Amino acid sequence: KAKKTLGVHHQYYQPEMAEEVTERLSLLRKLRADFALDKLQLWYQPQLCLKSNTVMGMEALLRWPHQPGHFISPAVFIPLAEYSGLIVDIGLWVLEQACRQLQQLSQQGCSELRIAVNVSMPQFRSPHFVKSVIDMVSRYQVKPYLLELEITESVVMDEPKIVIDALQKLKNFGIKVAIDDFGIGFSSLNYLQQLPLDRIKVDRAFVSTVTQPGGNLIAETIVSLGKRIGLSTIAEGVETAEQLAVIKNMGCDEVQGFLFAKPMPAAELMQFLLKHQGSC
Ligand code: C2E
Ligand code: MG
Ligand code: MG
Ligand code: MG
Repeated sequence: KAKKTLGVHHQYYQPEMAEEVTERLSLLRKLRADFALDKLQLWYQPQLCLKSNTVMGMEALLRWPHQPGHFISPAVFIPLAEYSGLIVDIGLWVLEQACRQLQQLSQQGCSELRIAVNVSMPQFRSPHFVKSVIDMVSRYQVKPYLLELEITESVVMDEPKIVIDALQKLKNFGIKVAIDDFGIGFSSLNYLQQLPLDRIKVDRAFVSTVTQPGGNLIAETIVSLGKRIGLSTIAEGVETAEQLAVIKNMGCDEVQGFLFAKPMPAAELMQFLLKHQGSC
């Protein structure tokens, strides 16, 4: 029987698997230790409105410094943190950092920039998740609509009722919700109806092909679907000016990608905003 062990799917025992599990366990131990030592960082990647050419906000992205100048990819450590449940505490820390950052931005005169935060399934399953988010937003005097939660289809599919209920409560409080990596999961259309969404994030996979013959069709379809059901759309992973031109032509509202800006430490954010638009 296929079994899931620390994110490794396997059918038959192989010595390499034991090695891999040991490796992952030691990485998890290191992650727990570094998190306790406050070594994780939250970086921010700006999101640009195509109509006004202004920054509307940014996505908060975890960074785990390894060696100086080197980071362990979230694609590696987030699954570990999810598997172990550590993501619940890390996730609260991320939310607190984001709220603190929103408060600070507001004090610096950027009172309408939003921050999007990624949320994993174990967080929804943890007790008092909704209350902790609402308390955090209140404690840092954040305007609720400036905090956006990003969820993936796999999160919803896991336990739709728990997620939908929680999001509905957060939404009633004024917090925004985006569906991340849209189109690469399953049952997207079904959940589009049930989830209290504000924004669709077109997955990078559909952005990377837009300049190829026929490669724009899925992104275009997602953008027009978003429009028709009244959701804002943002294209992820825009890397070239050619991609940007096609995306813009589709009527997509916003873009996020290396072409415009890479994720950056909080300390560089103000400077970036000043340089790009002279203010917030
Ligand atoms: P995501 O939420 O879809 O985040 C977007 C990812 O695309 C980020 O990768 C970002 O750095 C990358 N990206 C942005 N623009 C471009 C581009 O133009 N080209 C390319 N090649 N990549 C681009 P990152 O930071 O490595 O994060 C990977 C994933 O890890 C995220 O995907 C998200 O699922 C997860 N993650 C990151 N931070 C958190 C967090 O605080 N909590 C949770 N639960 N998950 C997180
Ligand atoms: Mg995201
Ligand atoms: Mg994404
Ligand atoms: Mg992702």
